[in-house]
Amino acid sequence: MRTLLALACEVCGRKNYTGSKNKTKATEKIRVKKYCRFCRKHSPHKETKV
Ligand SMILES: [Zn+2]
Repeated sequence: MRTLLALACEVCGRKNYTGSKNKTKATEKIRVKKYCRFCRKHSPHKETKV
């Protein structure tokens, strides 16, 4: 079973990416460095609800 999630920029808080993950396997919160088009640079993105 997979759950929907969004990846939000930690700098501006905007949700730039959406995806899904397997909640039974991945219990840790996802935190990745991705490009934010609002900040126009790479910034840490954290998992949040869609
Ligand atoms: Zn941003």
